[in-house]
Amino acid sequence: MRIILLGPPGSGKGTLAADLSRHFSIPHISTGDLFRHHMRTGTPLGRLAESHIRSGGLVPDSVTVDMVRERLAQPDCADGFLLDGFPRTEPQAHALAAMLAESGQALDHVLDLRVRDDTIIRRLSGRRLCPACGAGYNLVSAPPRLEGVCDACGKPLEQRADDRAETVLRRLETYHAQTAPLVGFYEAQGLLMPVPNEGSPAEAFETALRLLGRTA
Ligand code: ADP
Ligand code: ZN
Repeated sequence: MRIILLGPPGSGKGTLAADLSRHFSIPHISTGDLFRHHMRTGTPLGRLAESHIRSGGLVPDSVTVDMVRERLAQPDCADGFLLDGFPRTEPQAHALAAMLAESGQALDHVLDLRVRDDTIIRRLSGRRLCPACGAGYNLVSAPPRLEGVCDACGKPLEQRADDRAETVLRRLETYHAQTAPLVGFYEAQGLLMPVPNEGSPAEAFETALRLLGRTA
């Protein structure tokens, strides 16, 4: 199964992707996570990505496409994958289509997470991450047992630099300008399935499974 998750920042793509990837045993490929890994380990790609990410804009298409092409060529992607955060622009969507066509593959589904802007702003400002083990928390909906400390490993939690209020607004603008047009692009191909996600992660997972099951 080859799935794309579309949706604005903070719409719950990462959480749903983790659930679906476990359920279907397909790799979860998050371009945001890949960039953050490069930033943490200080690679040239990480240094290039950092300024774009900090400002709430997008990393240039050519760089992003090359990174994804490399990842999709790994053997674990042969039978399927779940893309989270890619494609994010029309040129990226065309590049992905060309990549898949080259290897005789096709997309099966595009899940479009739907969340209102005010919900997004509330969720992202409460989001916290453990830099050591990657566990995610939310001060409002999923707080750690002890304030500011990871339940799993005891390390101090951090806020992603791009989750600060000004940057969140910029990311939303970027989404509406550059990524939202992909909804029509995939709708025209009959691949798009909207998943409302104003509720809990469990509800979104259930909706997604129902939609995927119905069309399988
Ligand atoms: P979110 O979906 O919450 O914005 P991500 O972790 O997916 O978070 O992405 C974080 C940042 O990484 C984005 O704001 C953007 O700068 C960069 N990024 C991620 N995916 C892409 C992509 N496909 N193309 C360009 N930039 C990207
Ligand atoms: Zn931790």
